[in-house]
Amino acid sequence: TASLAELDPDVAAAMNGELARQRDTLEMIASENFVPRAVLQAQGSVLTNKYAEGYPGRRYYGGCEYVDVVEDIARDRAKALFGADFANVQPHSGASANEAVLMAMMEPGEKLLGLSLAHGGHLTHGMRLNFSGKLYEIESYGVSKEDFRIDMDEVRRLAIAGKPKVIVAGWSAYPRTLDFEAFRSIADEVGALLWVDMAHFAGLVAAGLHPNPVPYADVVSTTIHKTLGGPRSGMILAKKDWAKKLNSSVFPGQQGGPLMHAIAAKAVALKIAGTPEFADRQRRTVEGAKILADRLLADDVKSAGVSVLTGGTDVHLVLVDLRDSELDGQQAEDLLHDIGITVNRNAVPFDPRPPMVTSGLRIGTPALATRGFGAAEFTEVADIIGTALAQGKQVDLPGLRARVSALALDFPLYDGLESWGLL
Ligand code: PLP
Repeated sequence: TASLAELDPDVAAAMNGELARQRDTLEMIASENFVPRAVLQAQGSVLTNKYAEGYPGRRYYGGCEYVDVVEDIARDRAKALFGADFANVQPHSGASANEAVLMAMMEPGEKLLGLSLAHGGHLTHGMRLNFSGKLYEIESYGVSKEDFRIDMDEVRRLAIAGKPKVIVAGWSAYPRTLDFEAFRSIADEVGALLWVDMAHFAGLVAAGLHPNPVPYADVVSTTIHKTLGGPRSGMILAKKDWAKKLNSSVFPGQQGGPLMHAIAAKAVALKIAGTPEFADRQRRTVEGAKILADRLLADDVKSAGVSVLTGGTDVHLVLVDLRDSELDGQQAEDLLHDIGITVNRNAVPFDPRPPMVTSGLRIGTPALATRGFGAAEFTEVADIIGTALAQGKQVDLPGLRARVSALALDFPLYDGLESWGLL
């Protein structure tokens, strides 16, 4: 019955430090978000104790009557939210969802065509050291050198020439919406299956701000913790025909017991994702990214050799191009960190610098929109970032840090959390 602070003050102190960091800084890592209290409660619940191998109604353990209810709610909400025939909510993460998807759709040695990691794809779409790159034959498409957008003519050319078993559409760093109809038509033309990984933009899809891949794809995978704003975990949606294969490749194919506390938290997040407040938050997310892109296209930033890939954004993130800047990706990430803004450096396509340094930044707005930011606050944070990148090595650190602190103070995070009994 000892509290965490009593039982393990060392871990508790680090957790308190992390809470303070989240409160005092501005979180702009595009794949991060802040979960609500109800999601924290579900994850910190007694459901963590339960083994429930199998699926609702067909478990390999007794005592599953309540966790069955939870998993059924999560699956029903997922299907309703995205208009899918089938949902599997058991994947522990986005990567494990993708392992199960590939196991269901392909045999080892068959060909997968996906966006290259260097141009914004994900590790699980065929990176050499990832299971996907080791088990399957990989072919990659990229963005065009002219406009940095995915070139659907190239996708078609590669698909016709390479005859992949599966084509994957989806990204970790790309600032534009995808044309699922075009991907479907290419897949049909070459007899390939279409998998969409909507991990990054699932929240925008739920809010109707991004085309929904579900009607076009054979299988759709996602994380729950990025724009969707739920617990760190994954999920798979599909047409009915895929139900048996996908269920069996998640369990027993890839996983043992599901994390029922995480599945309860997913159910909560999927309920929230159907509300008008959630849609408004996604609207502010996209609006904030556009405000940021506009500020980073201004003259003072341009004179410092900094620009925005594709000249703007349709989604929740902006890709900053530092190829002509005195700052490399590492230096720019550190500079923003020093003024209290957390972002990640990111290789730009055709990057001349090595992957640990990079010539780009990926800056996202979901976490700040969740914190309550609207157009006025995004305008202020965009000006802080624009000014910092324009000033470069001559940056006014104390002045910009003070502006960041003022914004953080105006939007308290997890107010009252100390009394929630979680720490
Ligand atoms: N798919 C895409 C497109 C992603 O961006 C990510 C996460 O970065 C994943 C899958 C993997 O998610 P996770 O980190 O939960 O394994």
